[in-house]
Amino acid sequence: MFKKLNKFIRLIGVERRLCFSIASYTQQILDMEKPKANPLKSMDHWEDDLLERYPDPETSKEKSEFRNYVDSDRDATVREFYQLNHKFQTYDFVCEKEKEFLAFNKREMSIWDALEFLNTLVDDSDPDIDLDQLQHLMQTSEAIRKDGHPDWFVLTGFLHDLGKVLCLFGEPQWAVVGDTFPVGCQFSDKIVYPDFFSSNPDSTHEVYSTKFGVYQEHCGLDKVKMSWGHDEYLYQIVKDYLPKPALYMIRYHSFYAQHREGAYDFLLNDEDREYFKWVKAFNPYDLYSKAPEPPNVKELKPYYEDLIAKYLPETLRF
Ligand code: FE
Ligand code: FE
Repeated sequence: MFKKLNKFIRLIGVERRLCFSIASYTQQILDMEKPKANPLKSMDHWEDDLLERYPDPETSKEKSEFRNYVDSDRDATVREFYQLNHKFQTYDFVCEKEKEFLAFNKREMSIWDALEFLNTLVDDSDPDIDLDQLQHLMQTSEAIRKDGHPDWFVLTGFLHDLGKVLCLFGEPQWAVVGDTFPVGCQFSDKIVYPDFFSSNPDSTHEVYSTKFGVYQEHCGLDKVKMSWGHDEYLYQIVKDYLPKPALYMIRYHSFYAQHREGAYDFLLNDEDREYFKWVKAFNPYDLYSKAPEPPNVKELKPYYEDLIAKYLPETLRF
């Protein structure tokens, strides 16, 4: 009797293990088949990828060689990320997102609350290695401050990625971060991973696929719709409060195809050309200010609170 019971229990154990492994195998297959909305382990990985595309000319050779090691896992997720980004960022998609988010009916927050809200963003990054969003913003702005730039420039560095709260409103990574580019006209082959645009329906659209698309030559970027993401969103939130160079930096800081490659000169007007000098001046602070040593947020907070109060209202609508 005891022997039989023992055999029965062992059999149940085998069966359970078998069930578990079948279930996890099925899950693995399902995971492989469904496209991930958020392939990046950390949103910052697209910025790490930017560093490989545009390495810091100032750093010593050993340092850039050190940086040149290829993290193949990260590269694969960045590719996957751009595949989604280039496929789904269409002219119509941008119009839809404008309607949805430029109603600013999600939340009303002070800047500091918004920064703390942004810091609740939990991804799969390594908390021991990766800095949080607030730390990245403060490293950027402190680097700007150290170089003696005007206070609104410092403030811009401090705020420039605040639009990433879009992620916390449920938006997928490919609609929040990544290089931005104009929609409604031909995609430039100077945009990262240009081949992925073949799965974007706009690339065969009779108007959107032409060089000028819905735009006139040198019409000015203000008339041009950019792919949707954290740049445009934050610009729309703060556009009434900051000086024009600051607004250009915020609005176009991810437009690498223009500020690094000059691929859309034919859309720029004189004003854009003038103010893109500021976008270019800002970019190295965004890309190259990352340091392993985190800034002392607590100590610096009063300075930034005063700076925010100088330029911005108590609360803003998101
Ligand atoms: Fe950014
Ligand atoms: Fe940034």
